[in-house]
Amino acid sequence: MKRLGLIAFLLIVVACAPAERADVSTETRQGPPQVYTVNYPLAYFAERIAGDSVAVVFPAPDGVDPATWSPPAETIAEYQRADLVLLNGAGYAGWIQRVTLSESRLVNTSASLADSLIPVAGDVTHSHGPTGDHSHGDTAITTWLDVELAVGQARAVFDALVRLRPENETGFRARLLALEQDLLELDEALKDVAARIGDARLLFSHPVYQYFVRRYSFNGLSVHWEPDEKPTDEQWRELSAALEVHDAKWMIWEGDPHPETVSRLAGMGIGTLVFQPAGNRPAAGNYMSVMRENLRVLQQAFPPSL
Ligand SMILES: [Zn+2]
Repeated sequence: MKRLGLIAFLLIVVACAPAERADVSTETRQGPPQVYTVNYPLAYFAERIAGDSVAVVFPAPDGVDPATWSPPAETIAEYQRADLVLLNGAGYAGWIQRVTLSESRLVNTSASLADSLIPVAGDVTHSHGPTGDHSHGDTAITTWLDVELAVGQARAVFDALVRLRPENETGFRARLLALEQDLLELDEALKDVAARIGDARLLFSHPVYQYFVRRYSFNGLSVHWEPDEKPTDEQWRELSAALEVHDAKWMIWEGDPHPETVSRLAGMGIGTLVFQPAGNRPAAGNYMSVMRENLRVLQQAFPPSL
């Protein structure tokens, strides 16, 4: 009933004053509360928990890394108008520090997990490439790749949503439990494949797998390569030097690497695997389907022995 009333109201407004539609929708906004997030995992968690009782918005365009993205002014203004902004914490999305957002509407979803965050030593290299230079801060950012942290962040999202819509707590709680169940099933399956991987040496293409490595006790070493850029001669030399002490047979990438990179690695006896962190919204599927595909890739590379 309430919704029909709103639609009728909007129709009248639009019919009477089409030129002022944008002003009406922002200044006297009706409808569900707007929840903005700084990355896709948080948007997915919020969508799963809230159902359709809030509007979840993650506005980063395709192809950007939301960790280092700087939203344009109009998008920042949207964040400023949101009823709730879900932050990842761990230094993720540095632009948050450079703008004014209402403290009362900000929720750092990893605040209660501070003791579990991973400090990054100063040896993470600065990356230079066509997509722009970047370096990584002093805390590892990809928190959700440790399922325990992902569950903690999902619970922080739940708490924030309950504060926003206390009347929906029962539904939110049931959906949180279903989400946790999915995450823990994924975790169990990853533990199984991690047991088969054992202490086999792994290479990672980008320093974003610290929580994943810790969770499953992988023997990993990271370089700082981009999937869509061909490594420079210097990067290949660095890899050769790394292989002297870390004789890996597999390299794990955030996305499909360049075919020439794949074949050159293959020539060195190194297979390539893709495990997408899913910081941005996937082109197809959702968070769980991407994580299950990541799992399948690992299971295929490390099958159970017969
Ligand atoms: Zn990087």
